[in-house]
Amino acid sequence: MALHTRSQRFCSSLLSRSRLFCGYSPASSRLLSEQASGKGAPSAGNPETVGDHLIYTHEHLALKQSLRKIIDQEINPYVDQWEAEGIFPAHKIFKILGNAGFLGVNKPVEYGGLGLDFSYSMAVSEELGHIRCGGVPMAIGVQTDMATPALARFGSEALKKEFLLPSILGEKVACLGVSEGGAGSDYVAGIRTKAVRKGDEYVINGGKMWTTNGTQADWMCLLVNTSDGLPHKNKSLICLPMNLPGVHIARSISKMGMWSSDTAEVFFDDVRVPCSNVIGQEGMGFSYQMLQFQEERLWAVANIMTTMDTIIQETVEYTRQRKVFGQPVLSHQAVHFRLAELQTEVELLRSLFYRAVALYLKGNDVTKLASMAKLKGGRLAREVADSCLQFWGGMGYTSDVLVSRFYRDARLMSIGGGADEVMLGIICKYMDTLPKK
Ligand SMILES: Cc1cc2nc3c(=O)[nH]c(=O)nc-3n(C[C@H](O)[C@H](O)[C@H](O)COP(=O)(O)OP(=O)(O)OC[C@H]3O[C@@H](n4cnc5c(N)ncnc54)[C@H](O)[C@@H]3O)c2cc1C
Repeated sequence: MALHTRSQRFCSSLLSRSRLFCGYSPASSRLLSEQASGKGAPSAGNPETVGDHLIYTHEHLALKQSLRKIIDQEINPYVDQWEAEGIFPAHKIFKILGNAGFLGVNKPVEYGGLGLDFSYSMAVSEELGHIRCGGVPMAIGVQTDMATPALARFGSEALKKEFLLPSILGEKVACLGVSEGGAGSDYVAGIRTKAVRKGDEYVINGGKMWTTNGTQADWMCLLVNTSDGLPHKNKSLICLPMNLPGVHIARSISKMGMWSSDTAEVFFDDVRVPCSNVIGQEGMGFSYQMLQFQEERLWAVANIMTTMDTIIQETVEYTRQRKVFGQPVLSHQAVHFRLAELQTEVELLRSLFYRAVALYLKGNDVTKLASMAKLKGGRLAREVADSCLQFWGGMGYTSDVLVSRFYRDARLMSIGGGADEVMLGIICKYMDTLPKK
């Protein structure tokens, strides 16, 4: 079947799904997921255009095309405005994405997801890399791959109905509360926020820092200490509505990049929440959190690879028309060789990424490969941003071009979600090179 026809069919399925959700029908959604998991016919040529891809089928590419339309029509035209305002309208954008199925491609169909495998989530993340800033994709990633995976895996029926379903449909905005002022890389030992049982409620005191989506979120997936036991066994994840008495948004943090994403500091002052809001078992919060790290890290890599491609390509285009000393900037060997080096590095990262995803889909633990990819992705993004910005000259130093925004936004990749040094620690652990304590 020609790709065009298959893509159209998939896209129209996605579009009809948005209508389906008004009167939600799990059976019809399942039909779509079964249809979408079919393997595309192998063919020769450019893997991104004809489906001859290591991981992706025609259906992945159709999904990407469909998402790209939303990005081009509903997101990119407004990014400059949101960057200037320091926030994007999460409820509006999540509703659009949720209606089309993009907030739950690999979530269960009973809760509004498409029930597809993890590779579809990676395809979505790659495509979100076409958004012309880092803040909006990061906010979407928090909703789909950071605040909701544990709930989808371990949450009770009632919690999933109350928090997961509306988050997948884009009716509720989620945030993730792990980091605190004194607890980032070493959050296991560092977390101080405490939930104390009083009858059938927890009373929560403490605070969270760096909460993406925090100023506009409806609920937080909150990691707290629920006992004084060992730090790996005393933590629980709780679904916390953000409109409860005692939840205070202290401030929106001013940042060097990711401007369109709001980042909150939040305090909890005797916040009362039912004990039934615990995700899965009490005391398992750390383990649940660890389980999703592989996925989170691969999500971040998928996203930044696309942006690196775009930055390199736009630099090629700019330097081709910009002349210095009588010839295009690009014609200088130092420039075209450097861009070739960077593109080579991106392709190497892409190979590692697809290998990790393929192994993960087969049920393997890919913590080492995912950590390597996250480390390399963060460092390469800094190289791409710095080298490309240089070739734009003064224009690169203005706020008018993507490369300068990428320079600021991409810096987070080596810090957030596990700093480079934390990735190195994990890799060393797998290499058995960490000094014994
Ligand atoms: C824009 C933004 C959005 C964020 N969003 C969220 C969110 O939504 N939810 C959430 O919970 N958190 C979020 N974070 C927090 C983020 O995950 C943390 O910043 C990150 O984990 C690092 O923690 P830290 O800032 O406390 O740095 P620290 O833990 O203080 O580390 C400082 C530095 O120490 C070094 N270091 C760390 N470990 C080692 C080691 N083992 N060996 C050698 N050196 C080391 C690294 O260079 C590191 O950068 C966000 C952060 C930012 C900036």
